[in-house]
Amino acid sequence: MAAGVTTGYSIDLHTHSLRSDGALGEVELIRRAAARGVRIQALSDHDTLMGVAAAVAEGDRLGVRVIPATELNTESEWGDVHILSYFVDPHDDALEERLRWLRENRGRRIELMVEKLNALGYAVSLDRVREIAQGGSLGRPHLAQALFEAGHVPTYDSAFVTLISKDSPAYVSRVGLAPLEAVALVREHGGVPALAHPGTTVGLDRLLPTLVEAGLAGMECYYPSHSPSRTAYCLRLAAQWGLVPTGGSDFHGRGEHGADLGGVFVPPECIEALESRRGGVRSAYHSTRVEGEL
Ligand SMILES: [Zn+2]
Ligand SMILES: [Zn+2]
Repeated sequence: MAAGVTTGYSIDLHTHSLRSDGALGEVELIRRAAARGVRIQALSDHDTLMGVAAAVAEGDRLGVRVIPATELNTESEWGDVHILSYFVDPHDDALEERLRWLRENRGRRIELMVEKLNALGYAVSLDRVREIAQGGSLGRPHLAQALFEAGHVPTYDSAFVTLISKDSPAYVSRVGLAPLEAVALVREHGGVPALAHPGTTVGLDRLLPTLVEAGLAGMECYYPSHSPSRTAYCLRLAAQWGLVPTGGSDFHGRGEHGADLGGVFVPPECIEALESRRGGVRSAYHSTRVEGEL
């Protein structure tokens, strides 16, 4: 299904715009995807659905089906557990309220990290970080960009390694959802939850059963940084737990993760399989029990 070396695959279920921490506006993002041969794309900005309406409109114009989505970061001892939520309603006010709470926490966290950096002698201004975000919700990529621009780090990526990753001196942990809460939230709002980039989850095989019980429906087995053996491992786990294998580039527009839009193979049959998981949880799910475990 590869269309050639200059274009990508036709499905991409993980992309970010300026509405969160991507570098392109949502309309520009869809145009770029369309030009690269993408025909089905999920706009999955962190903690927001604000770009979805314009993205869908542009997609309609260009023949790209845009799936409304969001990516929820979580806080736990399981490493970086990010939950992609597909087919959520961009006009769901109650969901937007929860997402706003997450965005505000995210913003406060970045403010605290700027304070820490300044105290450590890495002068960065919060105003510049906000400028880089261009109105989107603040995230560590904006901070990394500001550190790089100010000459404090030799490359954008090295900011993460030396200063703002977990266990780095300027890191501030997030206040947010636990992984089970994120899955439950997506289900409560009619979305289909999938685990993003499972390679960043610590203890994946032990965490999956509880996420599946809470309603997890898919797992991003195809991801730019996955080795063939990692992909194979994820596919085996997905089969074991009845999860739909999904995939995406996680494109942000700054060369992160090494893939452009449509740069990762995604099985075409996963779209229908994800849609079939809407509106219900496949396995036995008792919300009171899960609430007690949160
Ligand atoms: Zn992520
Ligand atoms: Zn992402």
